[in-house]
Amino acid sequence: MIPKTAFQRKVAGFKAKLKPVTDKQISWGYDQCFEKRGRVQKQRAGCFECGHSWKIESNLVAQLAGCECPACGQQLKMDPTPKRTRQEVAYMSILTTSNGFQVVRTIFMKKTGKIGGEAEYFAKEVMQHWISEKGKALVFSRSVGGFSYYYDNWLFFSDMEMRSVGSQRYAQRHLITPNRIYPRQSILPIIKRNGFMGDFCNMQPARFFEFLLSDNKAETLLKTGQTSMFQYHAQHRDHINWIDEYWPSIKICIRNGYAIPDASTWKDYISLLRTFNKDLLSSVYVCPVDLHKSHNKLVEKRIEQQRRARLEQQRQEMEAAQLLYEQQKGKFFGVAFSDGDLTVKVLESVSEFEKEGYILKHCVFTNGYYKMADSLVLSARIGEQLIETIELSLSSLQIRQSRGLHNKATEHHEKIINLVTQNLPAISRLLK
Ligand SMILES: [Zn+2]
Repeated sequence: MIPKTAFQRKVAGFKAKLKPVTDKQISWGYDQCFEKRGRVQKQRAGCFECGHSWKIESNLVAQLAGCECPACGQQLKMDPTPKRTRQEVAYMSILTTSNGFQVVRTIFMKKTGKIGGEAEYFAKEVMQHWISEKGKALVFSRSVGGFSYYYDNWLFFSDMEMRSVGSQRYAQRHLITPNRIYPRQSILPIIKRNGFMGDFCNMQPARFFEFLLSDNKAETLLKTGQTSMFQYHAQHRDHINWIDEYWPSIKICIRNGYAIPDASTWKDYISLLRTFNKDLLSSVYVCPVDLHKSHNKLVEKRIEQQRRARLEQQRQEMEAAQLLYEQQKGKFFGVAFSDGDLTVKVLESVSEFEKEGYILKHCVFTNGYYKMADSLVLSARIGEQLIETIELSLSSLQIRQSRGLHNKATEHHEKIINLVTQNLPAISRLLK
């Protein structure tokens, strides 16, 4: 990407004048970013620092306690491996300033240790983030290889060019978090004025600076020690302006010296308070002594509230269904006939349908037969025991089905059919 705007050209000019990273900085990075390692294989140990190998008494003790290399004197962590080489990559960042910009320089580093030779090192600066005092950022980086999405596949001979922040190819790489940050730092005064005391709140430095300089709520949160909320806001600021909605309550926390311990839970808790119409400007509510306990209590209360609402809704639905059922089939209520053992009667309520379906394990209730205008449903019983459920078609006056437990016919099926058939004229009379 060629610098196009005046702003981009200005920054590109400053970048060209930036001094190279020093050898001192690089060797600090080598020392800090990589651990001193060795390997054990059977009764031998090897040093990936100097390449020396030697005989050991116990493989296990070496793994647990580590070893001091008898040749170079380094204290080594030991891994059990047959491999004779060990390669590691890491990133170091250097924080500097230039012409009123905060600059974050990112250096790729590689270490290759091998048994039988000295460890070899390689380092190359691969990225620079330039951030203006207003939080506007420009990124320069080297190219990455081919179609590879492999993170570290930098083309070291390529130029550090300006890259579009939105470019998919580079977006993830722009967020590479350094393993170490060089301790001698130059920081823009405005960043310090905005509350930066050296802690990046687990964020990548460039992203941290950009956020702090471009968002005045971020500045307030950092200055007042609301670190968790600061991080949460950084992660979610691309979403709808959620923080504006919570800001009055956050201000109450700040005023009361209450450091929100866990922003995500707190936010959830506040929205529960809102559901229960609690005063979101009262420190009693928004600054809970034990956030998780208060949060869980409200979650339980909410679950119970929702359960009750569901039950109430069901009750209302049943009531409406009952009214409709009475309107449609009321004239058949009281119809019952018996042959001495068996009694058949018209179902008179929706809850009778529910009971019928529940006990006989069929779908007369769940499929809503009480709503079907053309169906009349009867229950065949012996004493109190439910035997079969019968569906009649009112238009044709025919038995559509008669089913017992698990939708099957029972031993009384024929008798039930006969009994109902004999009494069809009585039902027919009620239709007129
Ligand atoms: Zn050694």
